[in-house]
Amino acid sequence: MSKMPDIMWLAEIKKDDIPSVGGKGASLGEMNAVGLPVPPAFVVTAQAFRRFLVESGIETELFGKLENLDVEDADVLEASAEKAMKTVMDAKMPESIKKSIIESYTKMGDTTVVAVRSSATAEDLPDASFAGQQETYLNIKGENDLIEAIQKCWASLYGARAIYYRAKQGFEDRGVDIAVVVQKLVYSEKSGVMFSSHPVSGEPTTIIEASWGLGEAVVSGIVSPDNYVFDQRTHRVIDRYIANKIVEILPDGDKGTKEVDIPKDRQDSPVLSVEEIEKLAKFAKIAEDHYDTPQDLEWGIVGGTIYILQSRPITTITSKSSGKKEKSEDTGKILLEGQGASPGIATGAVVIVNSIKDLSKVKDGNIMVAKMTNPDMVPAMRKAAAIITDEGGMTCHAAIVSRELGTPAAVGTKKATHMLKNGQVVTIDGEKGIVFEGGELKNADKTAQPVITGFAQAPIITATSIKVNVSLPEAAKRAAATGADGVGLLRIEHLILGLGKTPQWYIRNNKEDEFINELYTGIKTVMDEFNGKPVWVRTLDAPTDEFRNMKGGEEEPEEHNPMLGWRGIRRDLQSRDQFRLQVEAFKKLWNEGYDNLGIMFPLVGHPDEFIAAKGLMKEFGVDVENRVLGIMVEIPSSAILIDDFIAAGIQFASFGTNDLIQYTLAIDRNNQNVAYMYRPKHPAVLKLIKYAIERCRAGGVECSICGQAGSDPEMVKWLVETGITSVSANIDAISKIRETAAKTEKKIILDAARKQH
Ligand code: PEP
Ligand code: MG
Repeated sequence: MSKMPDIMWLAEIKKDDIPSVGGKGASLGEMNAVGLPVPPAFVVTAQAFRRFLVESGIETELFGKLENLDVEDADVLEASAEKAMKTVMDAKMPESIKKSIIESYTKMGDTTVVAVRSSATAEDLPDASFAGQQETYLNIKGENDLIEAIQKCWASLYGARAIYYRAKQGFEDRGVDIAVVVQKLVYSEKSGVMFSSHPVSGEPTTIIEASWGLGEAVVSGIVSPDNYVFDQRTHRVIDRYIANKIVEILPDGDKGTKEVDIPKDRQDSPVLSVEEIEKLAKFAKIAEDHYDTPQDLEWGIVGGTIYILQSRPITTITSKSSGKKEKSEDTGKILLEGQGASPGIATGAVVIVNSIKDLSKVKDGNIMVAKMTNPDMVPAMRKAAAIITDEGGMTCHAAIVSRELGTPAAVGTKKATHMLKNGQVVTIDGEKGIVFEGGELKNADKTAQPVITGFAQAPIITATSIKVNVSLPEAAKRAAATGADGVGLLRIEHLILGLGKTPQWYIRNNKEDEFINELYTGIKTVMDEFNGKPVWVRTLDAPTDEFRNMKGGEEEPEEHNPMLGWRGIRRDLQSRDQFRLQVEAFKKLWNEGYDNLGIMFPLVGHPDEFIAAKGLMKEFGVDVENRVLGIMVEIPSSAILIDDFIAAGIQFASFGTNDLIQYTLAIDRNNQNVAYMYRPKHPAVLKLIKYAIERCRAGGVECSICGQAGSDPEMVKWLVETGITSVSANIDAISKIRETAAKTEKKIILDAARKQH
């Protein structure tokens, strides 16, 4: 045997050092070498163990005891193993080895707590062939305990199972050595596991599971962890599920670990920041690339430092089916990533719209690129094949309008207006929010196109009524083709987007009739497509900044925070004329027999506002007691005071989750910097919704949703289970929402029936 050191640090270990450092030691060394942040460790080599056997003088005695042993005789085997282990434990470790170990330990910091693990070393043999000798001693602190733990690992080579195993495999006891890994123990504050690629499909998406405390909680399954999905192609977090984490495992002094309850305030908070997800995913990719096969990794984070504790191949996918290589080679170069705001794929030439002057440059089939879209841009948006913005999130104006137009859109890309050039040909995937270079997305998933199926097969009947959000008259036909049970939200401000003038402009220029007529015609176009089904039209709710560039917009007040400003019913109650014109349009429709028209008031925070709006309508000549009037629940106060609204006579309430989330969590829905914190399923949001649903049910009032969350199947499942009466979704989401509602209803019925039996 060549002269090898007693101790090797991870950085000194090479792949072919298995005979000296064992499988485990070599694997840690390799991980360290490729740049994975492995906790510091050194290995007490097989040569040190061999020297111990020789210099302590136990070699002959030890192997003598094991020769000609009948391993099938359990009693004999057990007794011999016990004696052999005692021989090893009683032997004196050579001073020089002891000294090397202690020096190395001291280098780590002599109060460092370490894990001491056996690492089998027979050449050409994988670890698995050494079942029974993988002893591990955790929480080892101090020189004496460390030396004892190392000796215990050595002794474990002569445990009954290990001897039996070797005999059965035909290995000589003398021929097998053992190395011992001494590794700094990471007391993870958060930890978990991750799959470098999707464990079932092999897609290049890294799945990370995370929970508080030590990793055992996730590995053993005692806690349901957060789940984060990171797309390695786009380098974006594409999904996250924040679980309710009840317990964590923490170190218990010297006694190992203990299970403790997680304090309430941490139970529902996300374990990982975006930065941490990105770093973890980067390490997963390094491991997968290095081993050339998808990896299952264990990780821990302490004091902001990430450690990779283990990496091994995922057994559920073969590297061939991972599809990783084919995918990344076939897809065009990614130029930008934002939020997928409106599904569909389109290719075209870029036109950058910096100001209103540029709008006329957008021709049919162009890709319109703007910092953020304004209502005055809608005529150009109608022509565009796709829309890309720098700013905004899933519920911003650009996203909502694009969805209705059926135009693919990526919003919140941060730098599209700087990165892209006029005339440059790009392809956008509006489902994923990715902008690719060039004209063809070879591997494009064409199913991402919005598919409006209508009722090709037998209709799915749901007790929950499934309505659609539609505001642009040109989208009415597509909306009705979904077979929706009505319109759950028609936004007046979007209906008048194409007019280019603010309502106040019409008033100031004595063109009230023109405005009333525009509203009347637009609403009628939608209602005619829905033939007697309920259509809820919402009174104006345009933040002042959205009207700024329209004719008359210069008169709009400058507000520090338009989202919290003069919008919704609060503005209409002060701008009586503006409200009156809308009511005149409604009256015209009612007078023509459109009794299915219901009116919804936005941004209502107190029942007095509903009472005042109803009072004004009455003053303007509406038979308010015989008309359907309701409110948006989009300020927490309206959910909290829902009983008072019911007492004030609302006939329906509809959750405007786009705003309810931003006002509950103090997250600006248009701000891409905080988009990752915008959580529809935040427990506070769910609590408000649940309470309001329950009170509406008790009060016999229809309860609906028309915010973006109503287009999310997972959310809709929860809403139906919680008792919502109707859901209003985007045109492209109707069929999957209908299916979700139907499945959920069936399950509720089935569960109830099973309970009875
Ligand atoms: C909402 O807030 O959820 C909503 C539907 O209204 P808007 O998006 O127009 O604010
Ligand atoms: Mg709203």
